[in-house]
Amino acid sequence: MKALLIDERGPRLDPAYATPNAGRGSTLVRVLCTGLSGLDLAAVAGRIAHAGVLGHEIVGRVESCELAGLEGAVVAVDPELPCGSCDWCASGMPRHCRSMRRLGFGSTDGGLAEFVAVPVRNLVRLPASLEPELAVLAQPVADAVHVARLVPVERQTYVTVIGDGVSALLIAQILAARNASVRLLGARPDRFGLCERWRIRHRDIREAGLRADQDVVVACFDAEPTEADLSGAEAAERALGMLRPRGTLVVSGPAVPIEGVGLDLSRAAEAIVSGELRVVGSRRGALAEGVGAIASGSVDLAPLITARAKLDEGVGLLRAASDPSQLRTLVRVAA
Ligand SMILES: [Zn+2]
Repeated sequence: MKALLIDERGPRLDPAYATPNAGRGSTLVRVLCTGLSGLDLAAVAGRIAHAGVLGHEIVGRVESCELAGLEGAVVAVDPELPCGSCDWCASGMPRHCRSMRRLGFGSTDGGLAEFVAVPVRNLVRLPASLEPELAVLAQPVADAVHVARLVPVERQTYVTVIGDGVSALLIAQILAARNASVRLLGARPDRFGLCERWRIRHRDIREAGLRADQDVVVACFDAEPTEADLSGAEAAERALGMLRPRGTLVVSGPAVPIEGVGLDLSRAAEAIVSGELRVVGSRRGALAEGVGAIASGSVDLAPLITARAKLDEGVGLLRAASDPSQLRTLVRVAA
């Protein structure tokens, strides 16, 4: 099968990569399309450890399945593969598995290939009304819904989201539907047009003061490097300077460690103690909730897919996707 992968020679399109075997409890999925995110590009740049097929935002068609009724279904794929036997898995918290593997990271093959083998429990069937291409964003949508659940913002007066990557834009969109006063602070004014489209207040972070008056600040740690550092301890410190006493800082982090994203908050401990602040970490929502939110029409995703490519374009598509003006590149895999 064709696969876009990273090996010791760097990223390349392999036209004859071995098709995976689906083991017990797993199925083979014929990939329709895969989202190319900042995390994949960080892996290409060597900022995330990975050797193997790229791609973790996967939508496909179930090729063969022992489970009746699932064969031929169009599904979104949850890329997380918890071990199922550690103490956290056993106590019902597989998201916090001690030896988590993830499709497209480490040395686990992902979905920028014609086929991927996936445990059946990782599949979420798409409703017929849902355009499969939009479902590549189901996981970032689920992550944003997760933030909204961790920190209900409905009755808060001042809520700020820091960041202007896909995650921050989605979190702002979902929080703004619950509280119209939500504002986004970003460093790329070309992305503020999306905030205007969604009627979200927005501002350049370099112009925002630290007035210690915000009830909730969500700091989104993104893989994209920016001019004003929005991803790292500096952004978290700025967020703390915006919070009122007893306010809440939400740190929404990437699925995997990224070199260069310093999450060291030790310098911020004084502000957390003196302001009696609450710090909430947020990482992953449930994929089915992301699919549900998209199917309900409550999130506007089309403008986040800024480029389209075909798997056959190989390494060239990675170069095109690295253009800083791109948000998400959708890669069509099936011919
Ligand atoms: Zn486990």
